[in-house]
Amino acid sequence: MNEHHPRKRFGQNFLHDPGVIQRILDTISAQPDQHVVEIGPGQGALTTGLSSAVGRLDAIEIDRDLIGPLAKRFGIDSTFDLDAPEGATFTSAGEHPCLRIHNVDALTFDLCSLRSAPAAPRLRVVGNLPYNISTPLLFRFLEQADCIEDLHLMLQKEVVDRIVAPPGTKVYGRLSVMVQSYCSAERLLTVSAGAFRPPPKVNSAIVRLRPYRPLPYPIADPAWHAQVVAAAFGQRRKTLRNSLSSLMTADQIAAVDIDPGTRAERLSVADFAKLANASAACIGPEIP
Ligand code: SAM
Repeated sequence: MNEHHPRKRFGQNFLHDPGVIQRILDTISAQPDQHVVEIGPGQGALTTGLSSAVGRLDAIEIDRDLIGPLAKRFGIDSTFDLDAPEGATFTSAGEHPCLRIHNVDALTFDLCSLRSAPAAPRLRVVGNLPYNISTPLLFRFLEQADCIEDLHLMLQKEVVDRIVAPPGTKVYGRLSVMVQSYCSAERLLTVSAGAFRPPPKVNSAIVRLRPYRPLPYPIADPAWHAQVVAAAFGQRRKTLRNSLSSLMTADQIAAVDIDPGTRAERLSVADFAKLANASAACIGPEIP
């Protein structure tokens, strides 16, 4: 493979430690009857092991300069067209007949469109994510949770800490509530910076998310719930009475047995669902 200069703007820190790569693959444990989507294959550190294990692998890579080397590595060099438009898909043959590489942006790409039929297996999403866009990517995955079986994501360790944090802790916040409302979240491995080239300035960790079906605390209006959670943590040092004043009254908060004088970090995921559901019902035209 030609020397590729890692691009900061695409969050490129490539895994190069074979022991760490194998541990990650073992943790994911992809099987032949499964459909995996890899976000950001980069130079193929995880792609090689995944493509030989699964029934279908779709790899989503934004960096056009990585597509050529990836295509070559997976036996698509004879059909790879350098003049292909951005957003093109390249289908592998030979040793890796079940691999497709998509030169697209994971932030806007519709993952669910990759499923061949509504009854087809749900997608297993895997990625050593670009850290600069990991939060918007997570929110994008939550929107598409219906077609996702599970996610194994490498993230900055501090982001994993926030995702799995319980209420009442310093790092419990918007990300914790949003992810835990829709998925079970489990921290798996911690990976040190030396496993990557170039090494990032922070340590990393892998989190496993499994979308709940059904949700343990059903949410009537997801957009409204997201707005309530964002407002509550937007001013996390303020009491709910103040931080939510533009969205609901103190009486509405008290009506669901939540103290308007408490702070967002004290509320559980169930409390947020209850609060959003009760106040959502009061939106819209008044009943004459
Ligand atoms: N999976 C490889 C590895 O573990 O060595 C690369 C991981 S690197 C941290 C992140 C990868 O995501 C890079 O290949 C980068 O080009 C790609 N990427 C960054 N932003 C992206 C986006 N919006 N959509 C798809 N891929 C993206």
